[in-house]
Amino acid sequence: MIPEPLVESRQLGHWRIHAIQAGGQALDGGAMFGVVPKPLWERRIAPDARNRIQLGMRCLVIEHDIGPILIDNGAGNKEDAKFHDIYGVENAGEEGGTRLDDGLRSIGLRAEDIVLVIDTHLHFDHAGVNTRRDESGAIRPAFPKARYVVQEGEYHYATHTNERTAGSYFGHNFVPIAEAGLFDFVSGEREIVAGVRALPTPGHTPHHQSILIESAGERALFIADLAPTTAHLPLAWIMGYDVEPLVTLETKRRVLARAADEGWLVVFEHDAKTAWSTIVREGKGYQLSK
Ligand SMILES: [Zn+2]
Repeated sequence: MIPEPLVESRQLGHWRIHAIQAGGQALDGGAMFGVVPKPLWERRIAPDARNRIQLGMRCLVIEHDIGPILIDNGAGNKEDAKFHDIYGVENAGEEGGTRLDDGLRSIGLRAEDIVLVIDTHLHFDHAGVNTRRDESGAIRPAFPKARYVVQEGEYHYATHTNERTAGSYFGHNFVPIAEAGLFDFVSGEREIVAGVRALPTPGHTPHHQSILIESAGERALFIADLAPTTAHLPLAWIMGYDVEPLVTLETKRRVLARAADEGWLVVFEHDAKTAWSTIVREGKGYQLSK
């Protein structure tokens, strides 16, 4: 199933921001909720006959003063049919492209217009459209005029995999970007461009980053896999995919507290329904603002 709508837009301070739903993905519900028992998680997101839950692959475009910035870019279309079946990836767009292309077109943008691509991390469902295959079969940067930003540690981690981590990292999504000299690697917390800040949020991967956007006193957090869906707001609801789940726990404790106390708009990358919301404290955890 392809989650709808394709694009949701709103104002954040001076900037227009657009959440583009770059397709659907269906992953094992148990893996998505780690140690949380099925009787609890299936009340939040019901599984299909293969025990998979429906997810989205949401990306964010910021109409920044320097030009359009894209945060994450979905799974792309370089993988084969078996891969798409296993992970339930449904993201084919019109005109032979992907849903991301459709979404960009619907807000009046082409790939050539993007000036900056930010990768929260390099897993295939987040960085799959860093590159694309051209008509000759060659793999090329998908955004030819853009610089790309990722944490330097994440690039190292993605290129030095082990038996547990290799299934999530496909070199053709990021090695050609490095070889073309298009990556601007960052280390730790820093402002990438005015109002767009890399916030290290380790746990899912050791160098995973969330992106904090601030304009005219309004703030939004592209939280990525620190809380992939709104069902992951309770502190202990942590994915089995995370390589350091207890680090995720402490990162969530710290970041969700700031998000709630300072009224940040949280953008949920993998939620099939909810693009964004502010959050409030509830007992020992958090929930969406009513
Ligand atoms: Zn991931």
